[in-house]
Amino acid sequence: MASYYNNETIIYLNGEFIRATEAKMDFYSQSLHYGYSVFEGIRSYKTEKGETKIFKAVDHFDRLKNSAEALNMPYTWDTDELIDITYDLLKRNNLQDAYIRPVVYAPANMSFNKNPESFIVIETWEMQPFLGEKLIKVMTSSFQRPNPKGFRIEAKAGGHYVNSILASQEAKAAGYDEALLTDINGYVAEGPGANVFYEKNGKLYTPPPGNILSGITRATVIEICDELGISIEEKLFTTDDLKQADAVFYCGTAAEVIGWNSLDETVFPATWENTISKKIQEAYKCKVTEKEYHKTTEPV
Ligand code: PMP
Repeated sequence: MASYYNNETIIYLNGEFIRATEAKMDFYSQSLHYGYSVFEGIRSYKTEKGETKIFKAVDHFDRLKNSAEALNMPYTWDTDELIDITYDLLKRNNLQDAYIRPVVYAPANMSFNKNPESFIVIETWEMQPFLGEKLIKVMTSSFQRPNPKGFRIEAKAGGHYVNSILASQEAKAAGYDEALLTDINGYVAEGPGANVFYEKNGKLYTPPPGNILSGITRATVIEICDELGISIEEKLFTTDDLKQADAVFYCGTAAEVIGWNSLDETVFPATWENTISKKIQEAYKCKVTEKEYHKTTEPV
């Protein structure tokens, strides 16, 4: 198992910076029993200039607030304040390239009633960028994404991730790197923790919001397409449509932009190095490290 902390690691817990090994949490918390929590997955990068920069910090902490509100969890924190706290936390842990995990959780409560308050913890650990250069083998999952009429699908809620865990474990047990989940109508939705795009004849496609967590990286990819003059369309498509693609990639804060080798038995025909998807991957790397890149699809 990965090691997320040691005896020196500091976390932020409800107004205090304390050692991870000394942190306590209530085992009667409604969050532990029912998966009733919200969280974020954020990254910081060492920039070209050597500074530490949390990528799209405002978007992430705003989403944390929106997720909490979608689940009727009291939310009393201010985005700017949480960002300052997170930079402080990174410094205290001597981290630049890091993963940042805030979690908002509920007090002791075995009922389903609303709580008078929520708690917050922010944890961070080292994460080196761009390790996943290899193309991944993806399996169409037997699991569908949660029904948007059964959950606040746009919220990043702890309980939703039981679905992600089931799908990811199923794919790995079958010898694949990752799963692809469909929505309740059988259209392609997303990965367990990433959004999907495909490239066909020089154009990109991705599922529209509605049955997905429409990610911050997804929005960044769309931004990059605008900058590079690449046409991008949101539309519903099936796994059969996807198997006709030239190239496919997943994108997410943790995954960054990662190309696919195959879906089930179908290997994608384009050489990754020659795809538009690869250009987007490169542009994404530049954006997170604040490196200049040529805002054109011409060779750089
Ligand atoms: N979909 C799901 C289900 C996710 O868990 C994530 C990761 N947060 C994403 C998509 C990608 O979101 P983001 O780009 O904001 O990390």
